[in-house]
Amino acid sequence: MARYVYDFTQGRRDMADLLGGKGANLAEMTRLGLPVPPGFTVTTEACRAYLSTGGEPAGLWREISAHLTAVETTAGRLLGQPDDPLLLSVRSGARFSMPGMMETILDIGLNDESVLGLAKVSGNERFAWDSYRRLVQMFASIVMGVESAHFERAIGDLKAERGVRDDVHLTAGDLAGLVGTFKELVHRETGEYFPQSPAEQLRRAVLAVFASWNGERARLYRRREHIADDLGTAVNVQRMVFGNLGPDSGSGVAFTRDPATGRPGLYGDYLPDAQGEDVVAGIRNTVTLTDLEHLDPGSHARLRAHMETLERHYRDLCDIEFTIERGTLWMLQTRVGKRTAEAAFAIATGLADEGLITSDEALARVGGDQLARLMFPRFDTSQTGDPLARGLPASPGAAVGAAVFDSAEAVRRAAAGEKVVLVRQETTPDDLPGMIAAQAVLTSRGGKTSHAAVVARGMGKVCVCGAEELAVDIEQRRFTASDGTVVEEGTVVSVDGSTGSVYAGPVPLTDSAVIRFLENGSTDEDTTGVADAVARLLARADSVRRLEVRANADTPEDAARARRFGAQGVGLCRTEHMFLGERRKLVEAMILACDESEREDTLAALLPLQRADFTGILAAMDGLPVTIRLIDPPLHEFLPDRTDLAVRIATAEARGTLPDPRDTELLAAVDRMHEENPMLGLRGVRLGLVVPGLVAMQVRAIAEAVVERTRAGGSPRAEIMVPLVGAVEELRIEREEVERVLHDVSRKSGVTVHCPVGTMIELPRAALTAGRIAKEAEFFSFGTNDLTQTTWGFSRDDVEAAFFSAYLDKGIFSASPFETLDRDGVGRLVRIAVDEGRAARPDLKIGVCGEHGGDPDSVHFFHAAGLDYVSCSPFRVPVARLEAGRAAL
Ligand code: ADP
Ligand code: MG
Ligand code: MG
Repeated sequence: MARYVYDFTQGRRDMADLLGGKGANLAEMTRLGLPVPPGFTVTTEACRAYLSTGGEPAGLWREISAHLTAVETTAGRLLGQPDDPLLLSVRSGARFSMPGMMETILDIGLNDESVLGLAKVSGNERFAWDSYRRLVQMFASIVMGVESAHFERAIGDLKAERGVRDDVHLTAGDLAGLVGTFKELVHRETGEYFPQSPAEQLRRAVLAVFASWNGERARLYRRREHIADDLGTAVNVQRMVFGNLGPDSGSGVAFTRDPATGRPGLYGDYLPDAQGEDVVAGIRNTVTLTDLEHLDPGSHARLRAHMETLERHYRDLCDIEFTIERGTLWMLQTRVGKRTAEAAFAIATGLADEGLITSDEALARVGGDQLARLMFPRFDTSQTGDPLARGLPASPGAAVGAAVFDSAEAVRRAAAGEKVVLVRQETTPDDLPGMIAAQAVLTSRGGKTSHAAVVARGMGKVCVCGAEELAVDIEQRRFTASDGTVVEEGTVVSVDGSTGSVYAGPVPLTDSAVIRFLENGSTDEDTTGVADAVARLLARADSVRRLEVRANADTPEDAARARRFGAQGVGLCRTEHMFLGERRKLVEAMILACDESEREDTLAALLPLQRADFTGILAAMDGLPVTIRLIDPPLHEFLPDRTDLAVRIATAEARGTLPDPRDTELLAAVDRMHEENPMLGLRGVRLGLVVPGLVAMQVRAIAEAVVERTRAGGSPRAEIMVPLVGAVEELRIEREEVERVLHDVSRKSGVTVHCPVGTMIELPRAALTAGRIAKEAEFFSFGTNDLTQTTWGFSRDDVEAAFFSAYLDKGIFSASPFETLDRDGVGRLVRIAVDEGRAARPDLKIGVCGEHGGDPDSVHFFHAAGLDYVSCSPFRVPVARLEAGRAAL
């Protein structure tokens, strides 16, 4: 039979799948000899068993009872013992941290009798009754399903009656009365009495924590963070220690380094005379750890030492939760802490410099998504006046949006396409949907460890918290700054999560320090050293990666920028962009040409324009390969819109004049060329095979550009890529024409033009017949956008908005297959094509040029599948370099 319970002394850090992150780390701290209140962990396996059957797993209670006895024995008293009760916390803790998303119940074991015992042994009657009323409230709302608001209202009524503003002014007698009110409330709402049996409290609390795995906000959080729905949560049962026993007690959270900047040194918030939840909730304003040093130097020194132990042991930034009970320090939680992108880079290089980790480990600790975030623009405040307010820079970045004052409004406006900033006094887990919908979160209370800060940091969302100068009025839906400025709902504000400043109105954006550094090596703006850390880790990635990184670039400017970002060539140069703008007229003329000679004339007019485009790109990428794709989209995309034409003709007729004959001709052409499914119609290689002269013109332009660059002393390396091939015969015929033109240009110019000819693999049939296609192709480039469309039968332009969010909700996939390569389906086709292509032609060069080429997860797949390079947009090039390096570790 499965074993469902592990004592803290029996677990380890590497058992997080079974014990959850919190349980595994509590066990690890126990093993390290740190002061952890004793307890045990009920496994995620028990949770899964419970969730699948809806009933308590067989034998679970027997195991829990045995472990409880052990805890009681060490404590020398029994759970809920009337004269001196042992109390327990029952804490959720899943494999992946989900801050505040699931439930924790404190003070289990109190009842009408043991509350008197607790009052006596603690010598603090008020504390005992406050703990009891907290238990009734938590237990009733989490286990018995009573709305928490009922209890809040009862507290509010009592305070009004007593004429006091703060909970702390309620006396022991008041609180005892409140417990009575609460118990009546429970009975009224549920028809059941609050359970007096400590064992029953424990048993039901454990099952309720299991059930909280499927609570609404936990599900939402998992979807957003791509955490699987079937993992389940562990439950930690632990002896209570009390931070609310008076001024020599308290509770806090701390980080071994600053999680916003990565700067070394303890960082944290402490709240005297409080239970842990109070710190994170931002209910009262916290003090710093430096203040704690004055309040209780002994505990502070011990905390420091323990945190150093933890950082050296985990070899990473740790965050912890601790409680001081009458001068005794207890460690209640630790984990490798969430951090901003900036801090991730700073910490990784910092730990490497300290010799705690190797440079490869440092590389493994950062990710492409974080790097991408550092490349986002920041505010240019040179022309901007003073900020409205300053708060704590809790999660960096620049965000502009309309101020909104609750989660629902944020969701509503964001769904309508508006950018919003969620403004609250403090956030709670209920605000999660609004936080996801918003560009930024702004709070007037709470520290860098408050709920808003922790959750925003985890999501990479901009956050400024604790902007105390702001008076936030949720009812009136506005806030007032200290200079009297009133910001009503809907007004645009700018929030700078890197400095903590909040501005009225939109502030313009400018390049980030990391972009400046990547573009031109300038470190002027790099006040935090993050650009230096990025440079070092990119250099490390470059030295270990096997995948080359190229860029998708259609213009010399893009090619040049990509090269500055480290691109090793162009993997996709689209030529259709070169038919737009003023050249449209020529393309229209070509399409409308009624005979061979007319068509040749228009093509001849296009030729020098295309040649100039190619010359520019080959110059920008001199010495590096440039893969040029022959024209791909259906030709009617270059014709005017049908409705516009029809309206023009109808207007002319209504005026009694003759319509422009060109419009009539164009309309006829549009109608003739109409396709029901253009994506599957006359495009790609099919165009080259049926439209005479088109491909020849493009190839001639490429070849002549190569000649021009060669004569100018350059080393042009053009490669010609044929799109949308499904059968080797298509490629064979097209290739003959390509070679004929290359040969012709070589002969006429006296410069030997050699361009490798390859194809895109973007149809399932191409992947499945790759062995044959490779006989005619010198290279393959996976067009994973079209390959995803054609494998799934999804029209990208239609499906994403129509039903992808429903598919994500239902768990059909956990990320859009257009963002992250679908390994099982599309990935399988990629592997087949790689294997069969290389079997037919061992020196076949293989790359990918779909947008997946810059997606971190997909880059790892392409590395594993044995590709030679990935190609992505210029801004993703550094991301792909970093991930290609990480994939090779
Ligand atoms: P979360 O995962 O939301 O952080 P926790 O299980 O850590 O939830 O519980 C929240 C808070 O409850 C903790 O930060 C701590 O302050 C308090 N708490 C939990 N267990 C105990 C305990 N055994 N003694 C005292 N306080 C506790
Ligand atoms: Mg916690
Ligand atoms: Mg394509």
